[in-house]
Amino acid sequence: VSVKVRIAPSPTGRLQIGNLRTALVNWLYARHHGGKFLLRIDDTDLERSTKESDQAIQDDLRWLGLNWDEFARQSERFDRYGEAIEKLKADGRLYPCYETEEELGLKRKSLLGQGRPPVYDRAALRLSAADRAALEARGLKPHWRFLLKDNPITWRDGVRGDVTIPVHDLSDPVLIRADGSLLYTLASCVDDIDFAITDVIRGEDHVTNTAAQIQIIEALGSAAPRFAHLPLLTDDEGQKLSKRFGSFGVPKLREEMGLEPLAVWCHLARLGSSLPIEAFADIEPLVKSFDLGAFSRNPPKFDVEELERLNARVLHLLSFTQVQSRLADIGLAGADEHFWLAVRTNITHMAQARDWWHVSREQVAGTIADVSFATAAADLLPPEPWNETTWDSWVSELKTKTGRKGKELFMPLRLALTGREHGPELKVLLPLLGRKRVLHRLQGKAA
Ligand code: GLU
Repeated sequence: VSVKVRIAPSPTGRLQIGNLRTALVNWLYARHHGGKFLLRIDDTDLERSTKESDQAIQDDLRWLGLNWDEFARQSERFDRYGEAIEKLKADGRLYPCYETEEELGLKRKSLLGQGRPPVYDRAALRLSAADRAALEARGLKPHWRFLLKDNPITWRDGVRGDVTIPVHDLSDPVLIRADGSLLYTLASCVDDIDFAITDVIRGEDHVTNTAAQIQIIEALGSAAPRFAHLPLLTDDEGQKLSKRFGSFGVPKLREEMGLEPLAVWCHLARLGSSLPIEAFADIEPLVKSFDLGAFSRNPPKFDVEELERLNARVLHLLSFTQVQSRLADIGLAGADEHFWLAVRTNITHMAQARDWWHVSREQVAGTIADVSFATAAADLLPPEPWNETTWDSWVSELKTKTGRKGKELFMPLRLALTGREHGPELKVLLPLLGRKRVLHRLQGKAA
């Protein structure tokens, strides 16, 4: 396997649009390189993680069509994390600290007051065995920090280029809390090693974590994977997306907005990259053209209106086979290819197909403005069978007979046949309606 990536959501809520984008970018990267995609549920925080959220994450990814080759759950891997902890302790890279939250808060405050970065002072390293025993005798339980090495941490980031983080700006990260619970930082490193992850592609908010994780992975005896950090999406005012689009996830995209998963793909796959955002009939062109190097360091704007427009353009491209089950979902199990091809260019959301189904297959009363014109049109209706040439021959006879042309000719027919001023091409719609229905509607009857 050339590459293997993972996404690692915490099951403490629904996936948001930014998580969906990270997932999609990882998936495309894996498929483009013929690699593998792992879904890892980061549920080490047993109190905040829920079964419902775990399930919802999987459902949301499935709705998008983001299938995974492998699956893992951190809560099932505590034994492995325990082994890593033992190794780090034995090597002196994990050391016990006894400061309370309050004490740490005071230390931070005083450093900030002196205009210095609030970095942990490693006071605990200077405790003797006797000091520690005394603290523990008072009932204090230690939390454990990872001892960072002093050399600057550098990596070549897939999006940001060469990154250097000076270690003196970082506190030794806490890997185990005083209650014995693990932080995600260590678990993630153990997993990335065990699952042989080659590339970690995630949000820019993890840059500092990456610095520490590179050292932790090396301390565990492995080579760090490649890292790439995508800038976080912003809203149209350049604000962090979470502020206004906090609850923007699959429920909103799917139920509320009624969008096609493919439109979401077309939007998110290239948002923030130099490749143009376009509508495609399937995901293949997105897989083929995917290029992590095309992503910019500038935070991209998530534009809901653009997503809506893409949805319309995507619908226009979809074949009947692609939408058959979607049509069934909205109650149009009886719809056929002819129907779909007639209406697809006239809808911006799938649900609107229902409206054209109503017009073409259910009782609708035509709007008759001029009875004598409608009567002439009815008299000239050709016999069945009808096909897409029927319209032209019918209308050209009608034109000769009545002397009408252009809008004068077409609009009354559209109103009589559909009751609407706009809609699918009439030459395609006509055979769908059938002679009996057309005749009745031209007579002003509901049919
Ligand atoms: N559980 C972490 C998060 O949701 C995973 C980050 C990562 O390593 O990709 O932020």
